Formats: sequence, structure tokens, C-alpha cells
Amino acid sequence: MKIHLFNIANFLVDGGAMFGVVPKALWSRVYPSDENNLIVLPLRSMIVEEGNHVILVDTGWGDKQDEKFFRHVHLHGGEGLINGLKTRGFDPEDITDVVLTHLHADHCGGSVMKKKDGSGFEMVFPEAVYHVSRTQWEWASKNNLREADAFLEENILPIAQSGRLNLVDDENELFPGFSVKIFYGHTPGLMIPVIKYKDKTLVYTGDLIPTTAHLPLIWNMSYDIESLKTIEEKNNLLNEALENNYILVFQHDNYTECCTLQMTPKGIRGDKKMSFSDII
Ligand SMILES: [Zn+2]
Repeated sequence: MKIHLFNIANFLVDGGAMFGVVPKALWSRVYPSDENNLIVLPLRSMIVEEGNHVILVDTGWGDKQDEKFFRHVHLHGGEGLINGLKTRGFDPEDITDVVLTHLHADHCGGSVMKKKDGSGFEMVFPEAVYHVSRTQWEWASKNNLREADAFLEENILPIAQSGRLNLVDDENELFPGFSVKIFYGHTPGLMIPVIKYKDKTLVYTGDLIPTTAHLPLIWNMSYDIESLKTIEEKNNLLNEALENNYILVFQHDNYTECCTLQMTPKGIRGDKKMSFSDII
């Protein structure tokens, strides 16, 4: 197995929204914000080469929406999705599988693009099977007021229409050494990859634990649909990770790519911070 991690792009989001009930006086000490209260989040995607599979985990915002939409997102930096793949030797046609942790716009938008002739949409990775949990697919298809601006029709419907959608029913091993766990607090059916790499276990924590600042059990995003569930799910995952010495890989942490865990008097916290290149 070979694994790559790269940042598609950074975007800005309201720091208060990312830390829910935690006062700014506390969160801004560990995750700095600008004068408008905005914080920088990268969008790290993972590429896993396993046997004949080239698996891409999450695809970023994409570029289908208008200028007004992206004015609020403030995209900057990063390698870009297609360019990041290319730098590592992959064309879009080489991707055999796209694993989408969930269908919020910053995680799946890059899967679908506008057709050049303007007649609708097409898949960015034409040869890939798109894996989404059944729970998340059904939840997003119903949509709801709270997540209406995160579940965008143009990101989701073309995946079903492509005929390349694989709905994942249960937690299981999707590919040798590549399993998924399923969570419900952030959004029902959030799929988190757990990857056995040599003697290590890597957990791509996605939106369950977006940054190291979200390791404390009650430091959670206000975007979460069910915060008590998030707390319970984080508690379970963090205990399992500590016990088995897993390495957490952060999708959204601008300052830390990976870390191990330690028990402290305050609960489970980060131990050794590492860059991804240190662990592979
Ligand atoms: Zn999300």
C-alpha cells in the first residue's frame, strides 16, 4: 500500500461556528482567528494505492457554484484537486474509487463538474466508483433546513445519475487494509476511514475531529446535528485510538497534519504532532 496526503485548498470559516459553545477567549488561544473572527481550514485529501485500486478520500469544494458563493468561502492556497493528483502521478481517469466521508459541499463538491458545453454535469473521475454510506445518502436526499446550504443538489444528484454510486451499509473493510467506521453526530452516516499501513493504524478523522483543537470532548462544531452523539462517538474513538496507539490524520487542521494521543488529567489529548511525511 502507498498513501499520499495533500491539501486541495484552504478556506475561511467563522471560528465561533467551528467551536460551538466554547468561548472565543478559549478557542482563539489554540486556533488563531483574524479580525473578522475567521479561521483557516485546509481541505486535505488522501490517496491510497492498494492493489489495482487508486482510492481518493474526499474531493473538496469543486468549482461549480458562482462567484458570490465562493466569496463567502475565501478559497486560497493549496495544490488544487486535479493538480495535487497530477503532482503525485495520477490523472482523473486513474482514480478507481472515491470514498466520500459525507455529502457536505466542502467534502464532495469536487466529484462533479459542469460539462464544457454547458448542458449539465459530469463526473470528474469517470472511471471511479463513488462510495457513500447509505445512511448519509438517504439523509442528504431528504435534506433538511439545518444542512440545506451544505447539501447541494448539483454535488449529489449527478453521482446517482452516473450509475457509479456504491452505498455502504455497514462498517467494514472496503479494500484490504482500508476500513470505514460510521458516525451519526456531525451528520448521520459520516464515514471515517481507518487504514492499516505497515505496523501503523491511521484514522482520517474528517469532520468528527476536524482539528487537534477539537480533541476535548465538548469542543465541537455548531454544525453538528446531534452534539451529544458527537461527544459519545468521539469518546469511543479516542479511547480506542489511545489504547491501540492509532495515529490521527486531520483533514481540517491548518497547523497539525497528524498526532498520537496521550491521557492527561483533563482527558485524552494530542501527544506527538507529526507531519504526514514523517509517518509514511
Ligand atoms: Zn461536514
